[in-house]
Amino acid sequence: MHRFLYKNNNLYCETVKIEDIAHKVETPFYLYSYATLLDHYRKIKRAFAPVKPLICFSMKSNSNLTVCRALVKEGAGLDIVSGGELYKALKIGAKPEKIVYASVGKTAMEIDTAIKKGILFFNVESASELVIIENLCKRLNRRTKISLRINPGIRPRTHRFVTTGISESKFGLDFSTAGEIFAKRNAFPHLDIIGLHMHIGSQITNKAPFVNALRKIAPFIKNLRDKGISINYINIGGGMGIIYSKERPQTAKEYARAILPILKKLKVKVILEPGRFISGNSGVLITRVLYVKKTPRRRFIIVDAGMNDLIRPALYDAYHEILPLRRLGKVETFIKTDVVGPICESADYLAKNRRLPKVEEGDLLAIMGTGAYGFSMSSNYNARPRAAEAMVIKGRYYIVRRRETYQDLIRGESIPRILGTSSKVPPSSMKKI
Ligand code: PLP
Repeated sequence: MHRFLYKNNNLYCETVKIEDIAHKVETPFYLYSYATLLDHYRKIKRAFAPVKPLICFSMKSNSNLTVCRALVKEGAGLDIVSGGELYKALKIGAKPEKIVYASVGKTAMEIDTAIKKGILFFNVESASELVIIENLCKRLNRRTKISLRINPGIRPRTHRFVTTGISESKFGLDFSTAGEIFAKRNAFPHLDIIGLHMHIGSQITNKAPFVNALRKIAPFIKNLRDKGISINYINIGGGMGIIYSKERPQTAKEYARAILPILKKLKVKVILEPGRFISGNSGVLITRVLYVKKTPRRRFIIVDAGMNDLIRPALYDAYHEILPLRRLGKVETFIKTDVVGPICESADYLAKNRRLPKVEEGDLLAIMGTGAYGFSMSSNYNARPRAAEAMVIKGRYYIVRRRETYQDLIRGESIPRILGTSSKVPPSSMKKI
């Protein structure tokens, strides 16, 4: 459930009428509901309470400082995938001992910082990465905890771009390589290799793939223990699906009920890394209709949000419900329409051939379910400043990231003197790259 609901045919975020915000904040902008965010976090926490898990919110789904701060303040840890996410995590006061770090391509510099900051776990995805971490720990005279990310060879029914646990994918280690690493663990005297990690994909709507993956991992753990190798942690990743359209994903309770028996038997500390489940339906993208255009074959609603603001439809053919901020009620007429952005790409659409209420130029629309992988995947493509982000907290809205300006678009750029320098753009230095 989320807190974007109609009252008297006006769409509200909690108790605040969204149209009132749109009169003050330039569109497009993202709008988050604090109550929804916390509610989803608490749902997982309650469902998994019997194993007292550490819930590390996956920052890649939404790394807005206020979103992350709200969850950290509530007790969440963070799942990071880059030095940039670590930087943002520390900025908002996240405790390093609640941060876990996955990525197939961590650089030595990123690893070095994460060791020095004392994060909880590196989720290691290759044997070479392990060697780098060991060498850096040795140089720093530090120890660090390691989880090996297992690729269990499970194919969940989700989009191929967000499938990460099949044997053809770049993520994680197969059981045999992981087993070899455990056998050679003494070669890594600065590492405590005491955890296993998995993340089999995203927007997984049924529990079977998780159960199947854990059923493969459980005997592997038993086998390690039989050899005297301790496994104290299991990180089961994220991946829980949410409702975008007509899907009926497992609830947090159903998910927990299915896998808790396996987890309890393993007698390990449990870590989860949900992203979309917490942030997805906590955010909407508010956009204004610029033009309504009819061609012999189609009817287009051209809005001021483009694929640079929300790339999911272009990238995954993702469905997002579209609601007018003001609806007419019973007399509504529905028309089949394409909702498209202003970007020079045919992939720049938000909905295709969708039955939508008749809208007019100047009307405001909410693109629903865009709190995860919305702003965090946005870009400046077509030299478009990125949208503002706002959050409703206890009856008031706050701008939590201002809209970018044209100055932001050229920040960091410079022109070599040889080309003549405009007075507005700094000349580039002669530094070797
Ligand atoms: N953990 C890891 C390692 C991931 O790669 C991802 C997403 O790609 C997540 C957690 C979060 O996934 P989701 O947003 O589907 O919960």
